[in-house]
Amino acid sequence: MATESPFPPVVIPEVDIWEFLFEQERDFPDERVIFTQSNAPRQYRFIDVKNTGAAFGHALRSLWNWQKGDVLGFYSPNCVDTPALHFGTFWAGGIASPANPTYSVGELAFQLKNSGAKALVTQAFCLENALEAARIAGIPKNRILLVGNEKNSEVLHFIDFLSDARFTDPTDRVVNSPEDAACILYSSGTTGLPKGVQTTHQNTVFNLLAYQEVQGNLSSKLGSDGRGDTIICVLPFFHAFGLILGMTHSLMIGIKAVVMPSFDLEAYCRAIQEHRVTFLYMVPPIVLGLSKSPIVDKYDLSSVKMGLAGAAPVAHELVDALWNRLKIPVKQGYGMTELTVITFLQRPGDWRSKIGSIGNLLPNMSAKIMSESGSPIPIGETGEIWVKGPHVCAGYLNNPTATENMMTPDGFLKTGDIGYQNKDGDFYITDRLKELIKYKALQVAPAELEGILVSHEKLADACVLGVYDPDRATEIPRAYVVKAISARETEDSVLEKEIQEWFNKKVANHKQLRGGIRFTDVIPKSASGKILRRILRDKMRAEEPKK
Ligand code: AMP
Repeated sequence: MATESPFPPVVIPEVDIWEFLFEQERDFPDERVIFTQSNAPRQYRFIDVKNTGAAFGHALRSLWNWQKGDVLGFYSPNCVDTPALHFGTFWAGGIASPANPTYSVGELAFQLKNSGAKALVTQAFCLENALEAARIAGIPKNRILLVGNEKNSEVLHFIDFLSDARFTDPTDRVVNSPEDAACILYSSGTTGLPKGVQTTHQNTVFNLLAYQEVQGNLSSKLGSDGRGDTIICVLPFFHAFGLILGMTHSLMIGIKAVVMPSFDLEAYCRAIQEHRVTFLYMVPPIVLGLSKSPIVDKYDLSSVKMGLAGAAPVAHELVDALWNRLKIPVKQGYGMTELTVITFLQRPGDWRSKIGSIGNLLPNMSAKIMSESGSPIPIGETGEIWVKGPHVCAGYLNNPTATENMMTPDGFLKTGDIGYQNKDGDFYITDRLKELIKYKALQVAPAELEGILVSHEKLADACVLGVYDPDRATEIPRAYVVKAISARETEDSVLEKEIQEWFNKKVANHKQLRGGIRFTDVIPKSASGKILRRILRDKMRAEEPKK
């Protein structure tokens, strides 16, 4: 038997994201400022996002003959211009596929090709990589647009693109069906390489409503009316947490969102003080910084009423430490790209009494805990968490096999996370069954790193595992490698340095082998050649110095 959400179901309107955000009744004025850039005097009011979005959608159609389902890639740090272009893509019937702006040329080219992107939005300082990746993916230079403050003579800035299009009719948009894909974010899921997750308009509208039902207007459930809430959008717009809870939810409820291009603790604290930020969306390293760093003492953070942490395991010692230092309560939530954004959330009053729990299922969702052999496990016992609900994505793009492996015929998604529930319906995560490593809440797919490592002529085999680093409050990837015969005589330290330098040029910053490279004689494999990660992990744990 599956466990049902303890909350009453929400009604899911049959609308696309554009209609949901911009064409329904709202209880805040069009002139409310929503997005403010942290490092530049630039902002968008609600009406600016709507009008610029519609003008952009019109330009896509009239100048580029944009068709229903065409994909627009994004390769940019968080920028105040991005929301209008993101939602404008939907106005034109398109799909948005944001990529990590620290991706190497190869990583970006993979996403552009795999998603079938027809054009790319980037910033001037990312242009070199963007141009090269676009060339590999067959996107012409005149289909690359810039956002942000800086222009470049090689490609058009989106403002000039808009003025070329002579926009007249804001109502002449493409109406998407709720089942149409809206976004393609990349995730490795439970195994293998990153895959394009198709999140539909309905997935998004539903998950926002379900979140809103339990969370309310952010700090409102703590006694204030929540109308004056301000958040910081530092979690990246290429990840569901930043894109849907940061960017889209702010627009939905009409609150101010300070857009930060990257995380720097000092700039973050300064922004909290300057903008009187009330609610923090956090990943564990942010909780760590706020609870431990001396930088925090220089700033007045008393405006913050609450934080929500997720996207990776959140140590309850850190939650306690932050409360003891700044009296900021931190609730925990759990989400997954394949489940739109958020599935479990602690109720505001539960953050302390149920510390360590990821909370309850949001409305309209159900879950069960399953044994390895696929049978349900009684309450209180530990197994894999399976989830069902209107936020289960529409599957991986062009990959029916991976989609089939992830979903059961009756609609449950196998999360690859291990946990249990107690008799009150509170869920706890205890471990991870899947291969995924999370570096500061960003995905690192071991299979991808292993593929790169074994392409080095001096390596015969490789396995990458995540190791927890408490000083950084994150997992870090560590490689176990077998030397090729030609490298048997090379000293470990010499070869490690050579491989690290070579490897770091090929991957984005978050995939670097910060856990080091360990040499081993053999990578344990099953008869069918599958890496037996658990054996290696147990060996690794046994070798760790006892505390
Ligand atoms: P992503 O698709 O990048 O959001 O990653 C989803 C994965 O992050 C989940 O399947 C979990 O392994 C992990 N995760 C997310 N939230 C939590 C949490 N609160 N506690 C532990 N792990 C989490």
